[in-house]
Amino acid sequence: MAPVRQPDAGASSAFVQLTETRRFAYAQGRFKFFASGLFSFSARFVKPMSRQDLIDELKEIVGDRYVLSAKEDVIVYEQDASILQAMPEIVALPADVQQVSAVVKAARRSGVPIVPRGSGTGLAGGAVPAEGGIVLSLARLDRILKIDLANRVAVVEPGVINLDITKAVAAQGFFYAPDPSSQAACSIGGNVANNSGGPHTLAYGVTTNHVLGVEVVLSDGEIVWLGAMVPDAPGYDLCGAFVGSEGTLGIVTKVAVRLMAQREAVSTLLAVFDDMDGATRTVVDITAAGIIPAALELMDQLSIEAVERGAPVGYPRDAAAVLLVEIEGVTEHTQRAMNLASALCARNGAREVKKAKDDHERELLWKGRKGAFGALGTITPNYYVQDGVVPRSQLPRIMRTVADIGKRYGLRIANVFHAGDGNLHPNILFDLRHPGELERVIEAGAAILRACVDAGGSITGEHGIGLEKKAYIGLLFNDQDLEAMARLRQSFDPERRLNPAKIFPSPAGCGELRVGPARMPAGLWI
Ligand SMILES: Cc1cc2nc3c(=O)[nH]c(=O)nc-3n(C[C@H](O)[C@H](O)[C@H](O)COP(=O)(O)OP(=O)(O)OC[C@H]3O[C@@H](n4cnc5c(N)ncnc54)[C@H](O)[C@@H]3O)c2cc1C
Repeated sequence: MAPVRQPDAGASSAFVQLTETRRFAYAQGRFKFFASGLFSFSARFVKPMSRQDLIDELKEIVGDRYVLSAKEDVIVYEQDASILQAMPEIVALPADVQQVSAVVKAARRSGVPIVPRGSGTGLAGGAVPAEGGIVLSLARLDRILKIDLANRVAVVEPGVINLDITKAVAAQGFFYAPDPSSQAACSIGGNVANNSGGPHTLAYGVTTNHVLGVEVVLSDGEIVWLGAMVPDAPGYDLCGAFVGSEGTLGIVTKVAVRLMAQREAVSTLLAVFDDMDGATRTVVDITAAGIIPAALELMDQLSIEAVERGAPVGYPRDAAAVLLVEIEGVTEHTQRAMNLASALCARNGAREVKKAKDDHERELLWKGRKGAFGALGTITPNYYVQDGVVPRSQLPRIMRTVADIGKRYGLRIANVFHAGDGNLHPNILFDLRHPGELERVIEAGAAILRACVDAGGSITGEHGIGLEKKAYIGLLFNDQDLEAMARLRQSFDPERRLNPAKIFPSPAGCGELRVGPARMPAGLWI
C-alpha cells in the first residue's frame, strides 16, 4: 500500500488520502491499471466517509440501480476504444443535471476523482479512470430538448448520440455537421470534450465551430452556462475554452449546437490508385486548385482488404489506395468542381475515377469508409490507432515515412484517414500473443508522432491527448505553455478531481503511473 495523494494543506474542504494498491499488469492483451478501491480517509473538516458511505449517498442521489460497485459490473467501464484499461471503483449513472451536480458534490466531499464518460468510443484513454474513483456515465442524459429550426439551433443532453441529431432534423432539410466515423455510437458530450472532427471537417470544421453554448457542472457542483444561443457572446470565450478540455474542466450537461441546411447538390467519387504517392499528390492538388471538398478521405490497400473481407462495398482489392472525394453546394458549382477533381485524379495516375450514380452508390462508398476501423478486426487480432496531423502539402512525404517506420519495426500499418485535413490515422496491426510485439507497436507509434511534429504538424487531430498521448505533449508545448494551460485548469478545478491524470505529463515520482511487471515501452508513460 502506497499513499498516492497527500492532503493538500491549502484546501478548505475534506481532505482524503487515498491509499490504493496500484499495479500495472500486462494482462488479457492490454495494459491494465488497477486501483484497488480501498479508501482510507483522513478528512479534516467533515466526518470521514467510508467507501460504503459514499456508495450509499450516491444511491440516494441517483437510485440503487444506477450505482455500480461490484467488480463484475464496473469492469464494463474499465476501458474505452484505446489500448488502455483501469478499473473504476464506483460507476454512477445520473438522470439529470441536478443529480450530476449532487454526485460531483458527494465526490468532492469524499475527495475521490470523477471521470466523465459518454459512449466510451474515445481512442486516447480519456474515459479510463487512471486514478480510480467514480466513473460518471452521462448515458442516461439522452434527450433532445429543443429544436429551433428558425434559428438553426438544437439543445441536447450530452448522452445524445451524434447521428441522432441529424436524424431528428433530416426530414426538414437540416443536419449536424461534425460527423466522426463513430457517429452512430459516440455521444455529443464526448464530442465536445474531445473537440471531435470527422470526414466532413474539411468543409465544416470541428465540434468547436458548431457549439454555441454548454451547460456544465463545475468541480464544486455549481451549474453554469458558458456561451449563448447566438454567436459572439460578449466576454471571455469560456465555451471555446471548454470545448476540447477532455473532461478536465467540468461535466457537460447540455449543449446548444448549430444546425446546417442541407446542400442543393452532393456529388461523390472514388478514385483508384496503384500507388499511394499519386493519391496523396491528388489531395494536395485538389485543395491547391481552390476546391474545398466536403470530404477527402484516403484508404490504403490493407484497409481496403479489411473492408472487403468484413462488409464488402466493392472497393478494388488490388488497389494501393482509394480516394473518396465529396463535393457539395449549388448544382453548377458541384458539377464544375467535380470535373476538375476528376481531372486532377487522372493527372496523378488514377486508373479509375468512378462517380456515385445515386444516393445508394454514395451511401455504399461511405459505408466502406465509416466501417473501416471496425473491419480491421478481419485482418488482425489487435490494432493501435494513431492520430497525427501534418500540413497537407507534407502528405506524400509523411506517408512514405509511415511506410518506412512500418518496415523498420517489422509491423503492418493500415492507413484510413482524413487526408484533406492532413489528419493521419495509421493503424498499427499486431498480435498481442506475440511476446515483445506491443513494445514495438508503441515505439513505432511514437516514431510516427515525432515524424508528424517534425513535419510541422501535431500529435492529435481529433482524438485528444487523454491518457495515451500525455507523454508526447512535450513534443509540442514547453514548460511555460503547459503551466499556462495548468493555470486555466486550476481555475476551473483547483483540487484536480475532474478526470485527473489526463493531458498533462505526470511529474516524475508522483507514483501515479509505474512500470509494471512487463516493462512499459519507453515513451508511453512518464
Ligand atoms: C471506430 C471509431 C471511429 C472514430 N472516428 C472518429 C472520427 O472520425 N473523428 C473523431 O474525432 N473521433 C473519432 N473517434 C473517436 C471517438 O469516437 C470520439 O473521440 C468521440 O467524441 C468520443 O465520444 P464518446 O461519447 O465515446 O466519449 P468517451 O470515449 O466516453 O469520452 C471521451 C472523453 O470525453 C470526456 N467526456 C465524455 N462525456 C463528457 C461530458 N458529458 N462532460 C465532460 N467530459 C466528457 C471523457 O472523460 C473523455 O475524456 C472514433 C472512434 C472509433 C472507435
